[in-house]
Amino acid sequence: MSGFFGVVSKENCASDLFYGTDYHSHLGTVRGGMALWADNRFHRSIHDISNSPFRTRFDSDYAEFAKHEPRSGIGIISDTDDQPLIFLSHLGRYALATVGRISNIDEITKKLLKSNNSQFAAMQSGVITPTEVVGNLINSQATIEEGIQCVQNTIEGSCSILLLAENNVLYAARDKFGRTPIVIGKKVEGGEGYCAAFESCSLPTLGFNVVRDLGPGEIVKVTASGVETVVPPQPAGKEHLCAFLFVYFGYPASSYNGKNVEETRYRCGRILARRSGVDADTVAGIPDSGVGHALGYAQEAGILYTRPFVKYTPTWPRSFTPTEQSLRKRIAQMKLIPIPSLIKDKRIVFCDDSIVRGTQLRNQTRRMRDSGAKEVHIRIACPPLLYPCNFLNFSRSNNVTDLITRRIINDIKGEGANVIEFRDPESEEYKTMVDRIREGMGIDSLAFQHLDDLREAIGLEGLCTYCLSGEDDAMPNTSCAAGCSTCAAKCSSRF
Ligand code: SF4
Repeated sequence: MSGFFGVVSKENCASDLFYGTDYHSHLGTVRGGMALWADNRFHRSIHDISNSPFRTRFDSDYAEFAKHEPRSGIGIISDTDDQPLIFLSHLGRYALATVGRISNIDEITKKLLKSNNSQFAAMQSGVITPTEVVGNLINSQATIEEGIQCVQNTIEGSCSILLLAENNVLYAARDKFGRTPIVIGKKVEGGEGYCAAFESCSLPTLGFNVVRDLGPGEIVKVTASGVETVVPPQPAGKEHLCAFLFVYFGYPASSYNGKNVEETRYRCGRILARRSGVDADTVAGIPDSGVGHALGYAQEAGILYTRPFVKYTPTWPRSFTPTEQSLRKRIAQMKLIPIPSLIKDKRIVFCDDSIVRGTQLRNQTRRMRDSGAKEVHIRIACPPLLYPCNFLNFSRSNNVTDLITRRIINDIKGEGANVIEFRDPESEEYKTMVDRIREGMGIDSLAFQHLDDLREAIGLEGLCTYCLSGEDDAMPNTSCAAGCSTCAAKCSSRF
């Protein structure tokens, strides 16, 4: 994932840009960047944030930027490429930041190179970066508005955009199907101006009030004096907001389309308790996102909520995830410190957002057993993850072989099994799969949220649930969970 923040103001906006971008730190762990317009030119900095928080890495840049008294800027926490990029084209100078995933990037690049004399300069490790491809698509059109629409109509995956044109004009464009959010804020304390952000929680403490969420595909032009819609949103029914934002990615204090993340997690937990309740002495959540689900479960079940695992936040404040498996395991353990006296002889319900590989949950279960837990019951706030995400850089499930469900399905039915049979909680296939996961983790009981219950907990129409259901009517081939040109039944040799 990635997240961004843009601002246009009648006063010096360096502080709003710096802290507004920082409020997106939970969404990315690779690169951070800021670009602002001042003294008739762009100023920019980009740093590696894989092992150091955004605020620490950018502190001196911020101080330097503030001296220029900028009136506009964009910032990004990126899980992919170096951003924002600065372009000089027939459309003028602009800074560009993108959130999403372009799955047909190779095809687009080839077309651009062939038809357009495009050049790609910002390659990372020999790979052309998505933001540069987006910039080239924009530059292929006669206006910025047409360029952004060209991006929306060309890419497969998703792409939300902040584009800062010279002279303090900000364009905010939400992904065509609204997989990721953009909220517009108005400055009501400490100045005059507007902002556009992924996370609405970045607004209130910086003195902004929420004006509204952009609709899917909507493009707005933001100045210090107001917000103008230059391309209206797609008609109702076209929105596919990522349901996983509510379950896992999203910050608890944020709301998307008016639905608060923390409250949604309480509802998830309550519904889980109603459908899959079990006798227990205490309820707990795996920090961070599991906590909200567990609080809801505890409220509904009338069982004491405790924290038998406490996260060590002073030096592990963010979701730093090393690529090396052994290091990942060590760090996951170091972040969570058990309190044996809260575990010993207890029947514990543990709530978590999801199970991807299952490794971390298996390790936590073993630690609970080692600390003397009498019974361990796991409740998961979403249905089993059965499909990798095709739309976002959702690093937890980008590869089908990472998913514990797929490994177990292969064990049960052999390579190429029809996954659809494993979606229905009433089917024998589903029950067998869940029981195998339970057995492998050494837990006493395991239950996943049902898809309808998750939808009820979120309470919005227009959700993407593709990674859970394999269905998405905005995909090129709507009948096939694999997104290829053959229907799911026939392509079972692949999936
Ligand atoms: S597939 Fe899953 S993670 Fe990806 S956008 Fe849809 S709901 Fe979100």
